[in-house]
Order: sequence, then structure tokens, then C-alpha cells
Amino acid sequence: MPHLPEHLITGYRNFMSGRYPAESGRYRSLAREGQAPETMIVACCDSRSAPEAIFDAGPGELFVLRNVANLVPPYEPDGEYHSTSAALEFAVQSLKVKNIVVMGHGRCGGIRAALDTNSAPLSPGDFIGKWMSLIAPAAETVASSTMMTATERQTALERISVRYSIANLRTFPCVSILEGKGKLSLYGAWFDISTGELWVMNKETGDFERPEL
Ligand SMILES: [Zn+2]
Repeated sequence: MPHLPEHLITGYRNFMSGRYPAESGRYRSLAREGQAPETMIVACCDSRSAPEAIFDAGPGELFVLRNVANLVPPYEPDGEYHSTSAALEFAVQSLKVKNIVVMGHGRCGGIRAALDTNSAPLSPGDFIGKWMSLIAPAAETVASSTMMTATERQTALERISVRYSIANLRTFPCVSILEGKGKLSLYGAWFDISTGELWVMNKETGDFERPEL
């Protein structure tokens, strides 16, 4: 008996009796011709903010990178292990995606940890603390604002982190060159888990607005 949690086997059984037969032609052509997604999404690992579900995307449509708090670090060609930068480089230089969307979300645990520096780290080794220190200056500024409620501070930093990641995307030469040539576009979005609302970043102002549906 293969070892996987039962709910995964059940889910796979449903996939093979429902979604796979419906999309088998697409899976076969993707296997034959390879993937050519036009859009890369940088999203949080949070189980509630799955891009394929939110954007109703099928196989081969989205190249998804998920990490804690959907952060893109700055370009650092220092020979260290950079999983986010590796995925980004692959999407831009190999798959030649046309769009990159950084999508933050409400009630993000990583963002909450960045704001709440007085509590114990979320994890004993504190990989999260190190990772979230990428946005420490912004987190300190937002955390010190006594004019905002805790909820407002959280939402503010979630959206600031999207703008920060987009700025860091532009520190990668491959991104800034292709964006300059008009071959790559960068977008920001923020998903409110509790209401299902998607907010989209205005490229000129950086504000988040509801799209017309
Ligand atoms: Zn999150």
C-alpha cells in the first residue's frame, strides 16, 4: 500500500475521475510540447491564497512561485542558495513569461511576524525571522504608527511588501531589461481571504483598487 495521507489519495481519485479526463488533451499536449505559461505569480505559501484557484487557471497557465509572505529578495549574485531568484530567472529567461504578478493576501502570518517583533519567533530556527528581515525597515515604520489599528497596520504592510517585491524584481537585470523593452510587465495584487475580494495595484500611484468585474 503506497504511503500518502488518505485525504490526498481521495483527492487524487477525484482528480482522475473528474478533472483529468476533462483536461487530458491539454495535459497530453503540455507533456508533448512543454509548458509555455505567459504569467508568473509570486504568492504566499498560505494554504488559503492559492493562485490557481483564485484565477481559475488550468494546467500550464500559471508559473507559480510561493514563499513566505510572497517576497522577492533583491538581486544578489553571491553564490548562495536563492530559490526565489532561481525560479524567477527560469520564468523570465527560459520560459520568457510576459507578466509577473506579486500577490499578497490578508491575515498573512509572515507579515504578522514581521510586525510583532516582541514575540518569540514563529519557528525555533527562525528562518522566518531572517526571511522577513527583508522588509524590516518598512515593518518598523508601520509597527510604530500608533494612529493605525492592528488590522490597518497588517493590511498596510501586506501591501507595502507587494510594492517592495516589485521594486526588487527590477534589481534583476533580466527583468529590468525586458521591462524596458516592453516585453515584460510587472503587476501587484492583494487578496482578501475573508471576503474573496481581489485588489489590484495601480501602476501609477501604487494604490490598491478593486477591478471592474
Ligand atoms: Zn502569507
